[in-house]
Amino acid sequence: MMTKYRKTYTTKANFMLHGGDYNPDQWLDRPDILADDIKLMKLAHTNTFSIGIFAWAALEPEEGVYKFEWLDEIFNNIHGMGGRVILATPSGARPAWMSQKYPEVLRVNAARVKQLHGGRHNHCFTSEVYREKTQKMNRLLAERYGNHPALLMWHISNEYGGECHCENCQHAFRSWLKEKYNNDLKSLNDAWWGPFWSHTYNEWSQIESPSPIGENMVHGLNLDWRRFVTDQTISFFENEIVPIKELTPNIPITTNFMADTHELIPFQALDYSKFAKHLDVISWDAYPAWHNNWESTADLAMRVGFIDDLYRSLKQQPFLLMESTPSAVNWHNVNKAKRPGMHLLASMQMVAHGSDSVLYFQWRKSRGSSEKFHGAVVDHDNSSENRVFKDVAQVGQTLEKLSDVVGTNRPSDVAILYDWESNWALNDAQGFGLETKRYPQTLVDHYRTFWEQDIPVDVITKEQDFSNYKLLIVPMLYLVSEETIARLKTFVAGGGRLVMTYITGLVNEQDLTYLGGWHKDLQEMFGMKPVETDTLYPSDRNYVSYRSKVYELKDYATVIELDTANAEGQYKIDFYAETPAVTSHEYEKGKTYYIGGRLEDEFHRDFYKELIDELALKPVVSIKHEKGVSVQVRQAPEHDYIFVMNFTEKKQPIVMEDQVTDLVTGEALTGELTLEKYEVRILEKAKK
Ligand SMILES: [Zn+2]
Repeated sequence: MMTKYRKTYTTKANFMLHGGDYNPDQWLDRPDILADDIKLMKLAHTNTFSIGIFAWAALEPEEGVYKFEWLDEIFNNIHGMGGRVILATPSGARPAWMSQKYPEVLRVNAARVKQLHGGRHNHCFTSEVYREKTQKMNRLLAERYGNHPALLMWHISNEYGGECHCENCQHAFRSWLKEKYNNDLKSLNDAWWGPFWSHTYNEWSQIESPSPIGENMVHGLNLDWRRFVTDQTISFFENEIVPIKELTPNIPITTNFMADTHELIPFQALDYSKFAKHLDVISWDAYPAWHNNWESTADLAMRVGFIDDLYRSLKQQPFLLMESTPSAVNWHNVNKAKRPGMHLLASMQMVAHGSDSVLYFQWRKSRGSSEKFHGAVVDHDNSSENRVFKDVAQVGQTLEKLSDVVGTNRPSDVAILYDWESNWALNDAQGFGLETKRYPQTLVDHYRTFWEQDIPVDVITKEQDFSNYKLLIVPMLYLVSEETIARLKTFVAGGGRLVMTYITGLVNEQDLTYLGGWHKDLQEMFGMKPVETDTLYPSDRNYVSYRSKVYELKDYATVIELDTANAEGQYKIDFYAETPAVTSHEYEKGKTYYIGGRLEDEFHRDFYKELIDELALKPVVSIKHEKGVSVQVRQAPEHDYIFVMNFTEKKQPIVMEDQVTDLVTGEALTGELTLEKYEVRILEKAKK
């Protein structure tokens, strides 16, 4: 039992990290500003700074001419004020001299257009020159700072992403394919369904990466290309860390992950489940659009919770919030300032879901170029007296009281499965509704019930251990391999409860459909088979009766052929009226459930309530509250750390059963309490 609450120190620091991206290389001719930074860092209650992320031109202004003295001074000054450094490798952007002298480092886009020097995050990930240059720079950094007492962690590159289609990358892709298909072109043609539209290759050299001016309809090729892009990005990363692992084996390594779109879905371009295995610590950059005009604050908070739970579950250990903004960003359509209270609330939500840090982009606003209005701790006024700076200092003072929370975990009995490859394949599929697939968003719809009831959830990937969970929810897993099906079968046979939905199990890992109907093992586990998927227009509605209620259905309805399963719900209209829409089936020691249509939230609440009651799934602590308040708990062997957060615009009463201590004020509390708009309380409860 105790191992469940084991502390996992991901950074070897026993305090909450607070600070963020610091770019002194933009201010080297302003020693007064650099001196102010150190004074302001103390006033902001910050302690950790990510340095050098885009500093290559300052570190190597000409090829082979290195300037480290400025960085020595920054290191020493931060150490002098009691702070720590997360040292970045600078490969996220390169100096102009390098692009000019070695054009092979420049990316070629999918339309085969070679890009000019400029921007950032745009290197060729195969280029031998770029790999040599980054490794040499990283070796020099590790040699010079590896033993510096302020060095806390490595921040490898920045926000890896994108792809390159140059000749070197085509060659690397073909080599990757030869290895994958054992040098057998026939097996590649088979996997890619080659005879379709005469897409059969008889020479490896005929294969090109997907392109808008060439091949883009061969789904097996598209899928393998995306896998290659992930592998090649990891290969570039592995090349970067060779000298770092050699010279600083005890310093943890991370790179900052991202989320996609205004809906904060998992970053799509790279399979983070693979990348995670190469990192010591997961860190990510979270920029929710608080106070937006399309959803409630609570709905957005729920989506933040979901992606936190995914990134935390990648390594089943605390993660780091590597970047966030203390006020607004500069890249949303409308860049709205955080309202009073929101900065502390949003920061503590990250900690509640498993972050051991609150770090920002950026420490100080730049004076010029595209990020000059991106939120920062220090504004152009260089003042510690403005609202944003004071909000940051308040977060710092709060984090100083949370050092016991560092390293604590969030054990869970419920898991939702997310799969990057299935998302790629489903998005590629020409079928269903082009605008309504929404796989990641569908997972959040299933997450909602548990979030509303404060029941902790892990969001896991297909290779993780299922046996730790009582309930496994696998919505819309379009692509599923035989291996995953076998693992799901073992889970259910051993007593697990498995929920699956429409558009699940239609293709294998090569994006080839299963023949003969649904996979026979799925049919056996579910006691039924889906025989037809009806895609509705966005304005269409159907209805499903379940128990004594009727629920609205949109987008998708699966026509089900029943075998030994029980029909638990029926469609109300259309040619499949009165046929099964929801089924359940006992299989060995476990039970499976199939939800045939995309049903409204109220259905999920009622459907999962039965499972929650039956499996005795409970919040870690009992705190009664209205909708929009979230209670999240991090657990240590002796204590629970409880974050009670009001994601609504009004006062909220809560009722606590237990005796707790407010970690910030030190007050002993029990019974009723009122939370102000956006208020967060952090409570400690001794375990009995
Ligand atoms: Zn390339």
